[in-house]
Amino acid sequence: MKKLGILYILFGFFLASDACPCFDCVDETKPTTARVLYKKIWIYKNISIQKGWARIAPRKYFNSVSFRFPKGILNEATFAIQLNHHYFLPDDEWGMAHVRSERKVLAADEHLESNSFDQTDLYYANNDCRSFILEQLSGNIPDSFQVEVVLLYVPPLPKSLARPIASRSSCDSPSLIPQSFWREGLPNPIKGRTATTTHHCVVHHSADGNGDTAYTELVRAYYTFHTQVNGWDDIGYNYLIAANGDIYAGRDPEKPEIRQDNVLGAHFCSKNNNTMGVCMIGNFMTEKPSEVAMSSLFQLLGWKLKKDNLNPFSTLLHPDGNGNALGVIAGHRDGCNTSCPGDKVYALLDSVRVEAGKCTPFSTIQKTKETEPTIVQMGNQWAFKNIPTGTQLRVFDALGRLVFMQIIQSETIEMPLVMLGNNCYFMVLDLGDGRKLTKQILL
Ligand SMILES: [Zn+2]
Repeated sequence: MKKLGILYILFGFFLASDACPCFDCVDETKPTTARVLYKKIWIYKNISIQKGWARIAPRKYFNSVSFRFPKGILNEATFAIQLNHHYFLPDDEWGMAHVRSERKVLAADEHLESNSFDQTDLYYANNDCRSFILEQLSGNIPDSFQVEVVLLYVPPLPKSLARPIASRSSCDSPSLIPQSFWREGLPNPIKGRTATTTHHCVVHHSADGNGDTAYTELVRAYYTFHTQVNGWDDIGYNYLIAANGDIYAGRDPEKPEIRQDNVLGAHFCSKNNNTMGVCMIGNFMTEKPSEVAMSSLFQLLGWKLKKDNLNPFSTLLHPDGNGNALGVIAGHRDGCNTSCPGDKVYALLDSVRVEAGKCTPFSTIQKTKETEPTIVQMGNQWAFKNIPTGTQLRVFDALGRLVFMQIIQSETIEMPLVMLGNNCYFMVLDLGDGRKLTKQILL
């Protein structure tokens, strides 16, 4: 039987001449702002060292790590990571000791798309680390290949900051932990935020952080990862919900005319238009989210549905160019190739629809039938569901004059209504057997 050992990370031994051969001379100063280091390491097949660790960045701390594997390797083999927290022993003892984090299996993070590498989820340790162990657990790998290690140091939140108190009552706008609190001391996001009308609430999980109660530090790590490693302008999600029920305001709306729930995010495989991303902090493939986190999700989505008169049981066309339908409440996996938001959260989405729906006039009984004819506006486009092809579409102005006419041949129609000027119009579809579907349009 082939022996799969721990891959010895040799990088630390090939540093430039100023590298320290020991930890005693490690620079103890810590940066006050976030720092990202990229290091390439070689991994060789069949190295059967059973146990080993190596410094990956002498003189440098890190508290979060991600890996960029050549495309496809993570599909063929399973790896695990442990982070080593090193510390000096008291004066009367000698040297250093280290505490090893729990072993975590690496998984590709489908939130970042790249043709050349698969980036893993971010692994956060709530202490300062200087080395890690990368271990191959199963599968086949090439004889040798390079992995890029992404090491982040995200400074902890200054202790002097008073933590906002969250108060909640169902269906009201939930109180949020604002960016001004959790982002303190980190670089500002890149400016240029835009708004999008959000009628899909997409639920995610962060794929890491179970059992870690340093929720604000986790949010800071995700923000740093999204902005400084993924190269996004800001954190991808509109909201993040911690296991203690705290709701963090995510992507910064930046401008007074943009709101937290309609700022265009980066979380749905480049189809972010019309979506609001909510991330449940933790990995929910096998573990269930906490009840208090779920009740915060019910409240956040209940408030959103009520405010925008959205039916949580509805499915609307999503403007991804493929004419695909997406639920008003959906999981990330409903629109992208991912396991997010984890099996356990995904299985709870029906209860989210029921609970959040209690804030709306909609109920399970009023669930929109899949066969019901519907018209949905998506910018300058109009989508028609369950309407027979060949149906005539007519648009009248406020004075009853016919201004547009077309036979519906596909599910979506682009109507040049902007040419007509700002006014009130009426869209009329003759569905046959005397049924008419009308919709008022305000331009
Ligand atoms: Zn996701």
